[in-house]
Amino acid sequence: MRSILDLVVPSYCAGCDLPGTRWCADCAGSLGVLPVSRPGLADAYALAGYAGSARRALLAYKEKGRHELAAVLGGALAVALPTVRAGPFVLVPAPSRPSAARARYGQHMVAVARACVAALVRAGSTASVAPVLRLSGRARDSVGLDAAARVANLRGRLRCVGRPPAAAVVLDDVITTGATATACVAALREAGTKSVHVLAFAATA
Ligand SMILES: [Zn+2]
Repeated sequence: MRSILDLVVPSYCAGCDLPGTRWCADCAGSLGVLPVSRPGLADAYALAGYAGSARRALLAYKEKGRHELAAVLGGALAVALPTVRAGPFVLVPAPSRPSAARARYGQHMVAVARACVAALVRAGSTASVAPVLRLSGRARDSVGLDAAARVANLRGRLRCVGRPPAAAVVLDDVITTGATATACVAALREAGTKSVHVLAFAATA
């Protein structure tokens, strides 16, 4: 069904360019729930490898200005979440650096988390967003840093600034070295969160 949105929002699949849909059934069906193994990181999962349609959708959302894909990414994460843990769900978006957030129209994982909550609530679950993690502006861009340097880059700069939930699911876009996810988990645990899972849209091999 076409809508007024088709006039202003590109209507083709973010994963494979199929016209008439933002996210086609084939690309949706290519997602699952995969455990992600990184040193020092437990209870971490991703919907797909960082390749193919999952990678294209993430880049379209983060780098190509397709803001409307927050609903696609959030919806896919909502489908997977009950496999990761039982509800109710408190979702903590992985924070972006302030400079990256300015360049990318805000904290991009907050929008995804809000869309994920909306989808969970529509499905009958209890869910909320707790955007309690902040990354200070001093953290350098991690491009070009190895895993140890990324962890050092984040230590002390990623912190919990609000009341921590008792149980949280950290939502991230892509897990590469695992440094960001590990820092998110550590910051929540230090603040008092007892149970932390991590769910990313994609993870590198
Ligand atoms: Zn597709």
